Amino acid sequence: MHDVIIIGAGPAGLSAAFWCDELGLDTLVLEQAEQIGGQLHRVHNPIKNYLGLETHNGAELLEIFSRNVDAADFDLWTGTAIDAIDLRAKRISLRSGETLQAISMIIATGVRPRELGIPGEKEFAGKGIIESGARDRELFAGKDVCVIGGGDAAIENALALAESCATVTVVHRGKKLRARREFAERVQPNHRVTVFTESVVTRIMGGAEVEAVEIQRKGGLKPFQLAVRGVLIRIGVEPNTDLFREQLQVNEKGYVGVNGEQETSVPMVFAAGDVSSPLAPTISGATGAGATAAKVIAARLSKKSDG
Ligand SMILES: Cc1cc2nc3c(=O)[nH]c(=O)nc-3n(C[C@H](O)[C@H](O)[C@H](O)COP(=O)(O)OP(=O)(O)OC[C@H]3O[C@@H](n4cnc5c(N)ncnc54)[C@H](O)[C@@H]3O)c2cc1C
Repeated sequence: MHDVIIIGAGPAGLSAAFWCDELGLDTLVLEQAEQIGGQLHRVHNPIKNYLGLETHNGAELLEIFSRNVDAADFDLWTGTAIDAIDLRAKRISLRSGETLQAISMIIATGVRPRELGIPGEKEFAGKGIIESGARDRELFAGKDVCVIGGGDAAIENALALAESCATVTVVHRGKKLRARREFAERVQPNHRVTVFTESVVTRIMGGAEVEAVEIQRKGGLKPFQLAVRGVLIRIGVEPNTDLFREQLQVNEKGYVGVNGEQETSVPMVFAAGDVSSPLAPTISGATGAGATAAKVIAARLSKKSDG
């Protein structure tokens, strides 16, 4: 019986674990990936907004987190697949057959990029699907590329790619870009960037690598093909709540609802980080929420033992 089982070892889960350990709780962290860090692996831009630390990218911040983790004393199991969770019973069945039991849980499973679900999206992974404009712009220097999406992440990446690519075509479903003004205003005067609004990419095509996208414009009779060598998809994210969504209150997009103590609708089940923060997904928010959950659990358990 563990005091607390934390699901997910991104910034939220690691911060929660760190605090739980410091507060003397018997803590187990379960991470499905082989490595800890969550989305930090995908952050290739400098991190300037995590107060007190400035790093060149997510990997550098993760290195610092990892040093803290190594010095702490909680159990951390990576590469661990959860088969089923019973939140009310605080019981977890692992795919390995093992069953785990805790007094409390912290869900820190974060979010994943939303998929388009079009032909070519999976087939061309690593063969022209661009993961990061900041990281991969030199790889695609002088080439024509397409960015799908119209929010902050899409436009920030389009601007990064425009620094070295021949052309960047942004394809956005809506009437207007959703990106914040700071980004959107830089798109219009950039002669390398073209924006197709009210348009969707219906297919990514090619041979060994990406060679074209098929675009359908609203009101256009037939889709047309645009020759590109790279495609970057940024159409938002979705919360990793599939495993337990039916057992607690989630919003219409599947994000976990929490109160001011990070507690979910199931007593002694807490959530922290992006999975419960649709409006403000940040590293500082995630680490703060993890700390709050840990402190509340410690206070509740100590009250129980006092009583
Ligand atoms: C390109 C990019 C740039 C960013 N730049 C910034 C920035 O400059 N500043 C900033 O503050 N934020 C930035 N962010 C956001 C920041 O990375 C996230 O807010 C933060 O990582 C959220 O942490 P988290 O722990 O809640 O979730 P995540 O980082 O998503 O971690 C969740 C973890 O849970 C694991 N998991 C999921 N499901 C399960 C399961 N069923 N069982 C076990 N484990 C599971 C995942 O594998 C993952 O390791 C950026 C994000 C991206 C993608």
